[in-house]
Amino acid sequence: MFGNLFGFLSNDIGIDLGTANTLVFVKDRGIVLREPSVVARYKTSKKVCAVGNDAKRMLGRTPGTIEALRPMKDGVIADFEISEAMLRYFIEKVDKRKLVPPRVVVAVPSGITAVEKRAVKDSAIRAGAREVLLLGEPMAAAIGADLPIDEEYANMIVDIGGGTTEVAIISISGISYQRSIRVGGDEMDEAILAYMKRAYGLLIGERTAEEIKLTIGSASPIESGELSMDVRGRDSTAGLPKTIHITSQEIREEAFSDVISQIVELVKNALDRCQPEHSADLIDRGIVMAGGGALIRGLDQVISDATGLTVLQADDPLCCVANGTGKFLNLLGSLSREQVDRLVTQ
Ligand code: ADP
Ligand code: MG
Repeated sequence: MFGNLFGFLSNDIGIDLGTANTLVFVKDRGIVLREPSVVARYKTSKKVCAVGNDAKRMLGRTPGTIEALRPMKDGVIADFEISEAMLRYFIEKVDKRKLVPPRVVVAVPSGITAVEKRAVKDSAIRAGAREVLLLGEPMAAAIGADLPIDEEYANMIVDIGGGTTEVAIISISGISYQRSIRVGGDEMDEAILAYMKRAYGLLIGERTAEEIKLTIGSASPIESGELSMDVRGRDSTAGLPKTIHITSQEIREEAFSDVISQIVELVKNALDRCQPEHSADLIDRGIVMAGGGALIRGLDQVISDATGLTVLQADDPLCCVANGTGKFLNLLGSLSREQVDRLVTQ
């Protein structure tokens, strides 16, 4: 009964603290905020001057006195102070104070340590939360994708984010296998950047590399016809602006292949190491992909060919984890303490 009363008096919040994007879900309202996980601060005083969209605009083009940082970049907390500044900014931005401080569910990369988890909890409390629960990212993604996680059958979720790719096998509301690698969408951007320099002597920025990935990136041949685009950058020897025409095929074959094969290996290892009954379940259930990286054209096909399993994309992969935190908030009232303990990461 107090749960309901608190719910009425406060705005409970779910946060997807991603390596590339942070999303905030407010109970009864849905996702209200999606901004890059970036913090800008003054180099000398270390004082934070911008967070989120404003800070991302400064990445790669900051004046000498300001640095733009990505506190979660590799799926670990690189700097506690800037992570806290980021969390505080996002909580304060959406928490239009009601009578009772919010309960906050934060989805965190599964690779973070106990000390880092403590830091996230303390930061959220200092930012005004009355209670903080941490959900492992794959669990949040599985709930967000509406996988029947409380059944005894196994489900596999693969979440491909900016800095990390996480794979987990979940059954009876618990994680039976999980691994994460520090490879994801960012690595694809970096591979494109390196390829443009190597093949054409063309220097491009991170944002251009990401734009190439979004426009023509693919993991398997595009049946409807390969794509192409013009890319502008700076000639590395002449130092002058230059335009180069590139195709989806060369990006796939020359830039992406290494990253894609690391993701495929991660999934194959999970299948190789999981319990035999779980393997059998996955033949029926297939694999569900979430995260922005799941949107790469043809990646589902590549994973399916490598494993022989059906691969499905979660609805709205970029919002899957945040939606999971929201669905978890809605479930909280009906779960026992033991069920909650099984789902959250301690
Ligand atoms: P994180 O959870 O780590 O913050 P996200 O799930 O938000 O990451 O995914 C961000 C990554 O997804 C970025 O590398 C971004 O470039 C990539 N991404 C977003 N949309 C697409 C798309 N349509 N195709 C390919 N990659 C995409
Ligand atoms: Mg994520």
